[in-house]
Amino acid sequence: MLERASKVIPGGVNSPVRAFRSVGGGPLFIKKGEGCRLIDEDGNALIDYIGSWGPLILGHRPKCVIEAIEAVLEIGTSFGAPTEREIHLAEAIRDAVPSMEMVRLVNSGTEAAMSALRVARGFTGRDLCIKFEGCYHGHVDSLLVKAGSGLATLGLSDSAGVPPAFAATTISVPFNDLNAVAAAFENHKGKIASVMVEPVAGNMGCVPPAPGFLEGLRKLCTDNEALLIFDEVMCGFRVSFGGAQGLYGVTPDMTAFGKIIGGGLPIAAYGGKAEVMNYVAPVGPIYQAGTLSGNPLAVSAGLAMLTYLKEHPEVYTTLEKRTAALCSDNLPGVTVNRVGSMFTFFFTTEPVYDYESAKKCDTKRFAAFFHHMLEHGVYLAPSQFEAGFVGLAHEDADIEATREAARQFFAA
Ligand SMILES: *Cc1c(COP(=O)(O)O)cnc(C)c1O
Repeated sequence: MLERASKVIPGGVNSPVRAFRSVGGGPLFIKKGEGCRLIDEDGNALIDYIGSWGPLILGHRPKCVIEAIEAVLEIGTSFGAPTEREIHLAEAIRDAVPSMEMVRLVNSGTEAAMSALRVARGFTGRDLCIKFEGCYHGHVDSLLVKAGSGLATLGLSDSAGVPPAFAATTISVPFNDLNAVAAAFENHKGKIASVMVEPVAGNMGCVPPAPGFLEGLRKLCTDNEALLIFDEVMCGFRVSFGGAQGLYGVTPDMTAFGKIIGGGLPIAAYGGKAEVMNYVAPVGPIYQAGTLSGNPLAVSAGLAMLTYLKEHPEVYTTLEKRTAALCSDNLPGVTVNRVGSMFTFFFTTEPVYDYESAKKCDTKRFAAFFHHMLEHGVYLAPSQFEAGFVGLAHEDADIEATREAARQFFAA
């Protein structure tokens, strides 16, 4: 299948990390998902800690989501006109996350981050954005930047095809480094529209915010009249029902959501203060649109997911307990980072608090670990720099089997 796919799809995959390039070997083609397991085309059952890269907090095919989708199939798959259920989803997001006074639905996390950034620029009348090394906000042109050569310098693109002028609108600084953010504001006075951050970083592996980091960003943004944008595409409805902002009690001006809010279908959202969101068309001058935005299937799936999570707050305590158990072994040469049901086994003995410290990992040994786990029926993300996810469908026995497989690797 990989051979055939590679002839018509670059690398045989529709998103690069799926190709297993950083651990070697080829991707497994998946036939179906059931509970916490994936079944591949060869019939192997694997305990899945990727969960479609975050959305599947209830596991594969949860009854509430499947029933919601089935009900919509009876009435239509797309109308290109407003529907009542879009109000319900927007209200459900606002009720869970009060800073989302107004919400616009889009189709992917990339679109949500890109649109939030445009709105921040349109609202402030400024061009520059501060982001953090190792944080990922989708494949937005201006946000695909690598670290600058010095602190608080303008970014260089990390991808071919991005005009240098786009990358130069982004200032990339180390995660958890408030001094670097303050210096960037100082060096570019009155020019910074926004600070965009994953409040719990997940795209360099799981890296929690240091105590005071998010509070410090809030203050710097307020002092400099820039908008604080939380990219909660991964951590929203994951680290708590109210997202990272609920967990840490820091209120951003705007937020991007995705992944869990679609219940496994393609949907995302951005929003925030009404004062800011009223700049979005058709009310205001900032253009943003989508043919399939608010798609009835995706909205229903997302609404079913959020409704379930709201009605079952114990999900989060169960996930906390199970993920804590999964991460409780003392594995030699490994530093474990975890926030709720997001975790990463970093193959380094030193603490991991930003991208530089994450890069110290022994990625070869991680690759060997990855393949050992796969052979023992455990499907981890095929890269050291990804978060793993535990979902409600992972039973205690699945967690125990995973720990046993990991212990065998370190005993060998
Ligand atoms: C996954 C992710 C995105 C991109 O979402 P897509 O739906 O893949 O476009 C953006 N930001 C964060 C924090 C993510 O984890």
